[in-house]
Amino acid sequence: MTLTATGPAAEQWEAAVAAVRALGGDAEIQLICHVSPDGDALGSMLGFGLGLRRLGHTRVRATFPGHFSVPDPYAALPGLDLLVPEADAYPAPDLILVFDVASESRLGGLAARVAAAPVSVLLDHHASNTGFGVIRLVDPHAAATSVLAEQLLDRLGVPLDAEIAECFYVALATDTGSFKFDMTTAAVHELAARLIATGLRPGDISRQIFDTRPFGAVKLAGEVLGRAELDPAAAGGRGLVWTYATLDDLARHGQPPYILDTLIDPVRGVAEADVTVLVKQVAEGEWAVSLRSKGAVDVSRLAISQGGGGHRLAAGFTGFGEPRDVVDTVRQLLDEYLN
Ligand code: 5GP
Ligand code: MN
Repeated sequence: MTLTATGPAAEQWEAAVAAVRALGGDAEIQLICHVSPDGDALGSMLGFGLGLRRLGHTRVRATFPGHFSVPDPYAALPGLDLLVPEADAYPAPDLILVFDVASESRLGGLAARVAAAPVSVLLDHHASNTGFGVIRLVDPHAAATSVLAEQLLDRLGVPLDAEIAECFYVALATDTGSFKFDMTTAAVHELAARLIATGLRPGDISRQIFDTRPFGAVKLAGEVLGRAELDPAAAGGRGLVWTYATLDDLARHGQPPYILDTLIDPVRGVAEADVTVLVKQVAEGEWAVSLRSKGAVDVSRLAISQGGGGHRLAAGFTGFGEPRDVVDTVRQLLDEYLN
């Protein structure tokens, strides 16, 4: 797939607009985002779903594969009533739109439905996107999938309102790390300004999605951060810091897995390391590996080589064995890539 700095080609935008406009108000439209959804996956999907409702579509459902649970920070998002468990998704919808999904593996059991759909529109911003779906709105320079979702709604003539804007704002704030990451361009702030102008209260939203957690999560973080290890010689002397969390850690503190999603952030600030690795247990001998770089290493290359994906400075893959084995693999891959 050819990706340019200017974003999706005009024909892709036109095809996406035509695909929605071709549908009557009672057509079945299925929205899907990735497994274990984050703020961008849910926010871009639900914001767009609300936009379809504004266009008069009455049969719109949103879902994601796997365990059906919405992380607490996102439990008050507008449009949550669109959400159904995977089992209740339309079996043969007229149109499928896919949000923030870099590869079919992130669609779990819904991948076949996307492949079988008469029309599917893919909205995504991962450089590692494998290019499935019929119509592809993929822009690795977009800070969040919600940037693309907002543009598509705009092209469909749906104005922003406070509910749609809240969804897109949560998505944008999540994927830019609260407007801190490299992708935080002037255009990102301009979009944020338009979203806030609908009446949003960014302070309330940030407190809800970033700065509120159960006491057990604080105790859990204390343990996980306490066992972090620094390897200054790794990555050609650029340094690697890593830690891990097990299912038993979660159970002892009574916490759900999503609590670990942001735990990499305090670790990645370590000055002595360019690369950060957080190894999160998903099953016996199976780990979700999160990788971050401050800029010296393209961690998406490394993740892709292990069957995962992501962005240049934030990526992930599934690892096996013990946490130390997984980190040893990362160390070796870093040596290979940096030589
Ligand atoms: P996180 O470490 O926050 O889970 O994910 C960082 C980035 O890497 C996200 O863009 C996410 O989509 C991507 N990513 C994480 N794990 C995987 C994986 O197992 N497969 C793929 N394809 N991408 C992943
Ligand atoms: Mn995203």
